[in-house]
Amino acid sequence: MQALVRVCVVTFWMDNWPVARKEHRCELCRRTIRPGEKYRRGVGLDGSTAFTFKECRHCRAVMDLADPTAGDSEYDFDVLGEWDPYGVTETRWKVQWARGWERRDGDLYPVPAKAVAS
Ligand SMILES: [Zn+2]
Repeated sequence: MQALVRVCVVTFWMDNWPVARKEHRCELCRRTIRPGEKYRRGVGLDGSTAFTFKECRHCRAVMDLADPTAGDSEYDFDVLGEWDPYGVTETRWKVQWARGWERRDGDLYPVPAKAVAS
């Protein structure tokens, strides 16, 4: 009789917010994260495969404020691509996201924030 071996897959995940020393690519908008910018860097272990995941502050803010995944913890570029924004503010964020958060003059748009009620 063969012994049944159960493999327990432990998924490990941690993240931090370093300041970019070189260019990185945001996985959610595919723009270049510029040196000097803060970005979210996640390191995970999926079974025996290690991976890293990088997000710019803009995309992270949209994920936090608009929650396009509706609570799903796994997401990538397509989540924002298929995201159906609600209201004027979110629609503006989606347009800016599609532009890689870059203005015509090359500067970045401000990081999305909840509008202050007036
Ligand atoms: Zn991004």
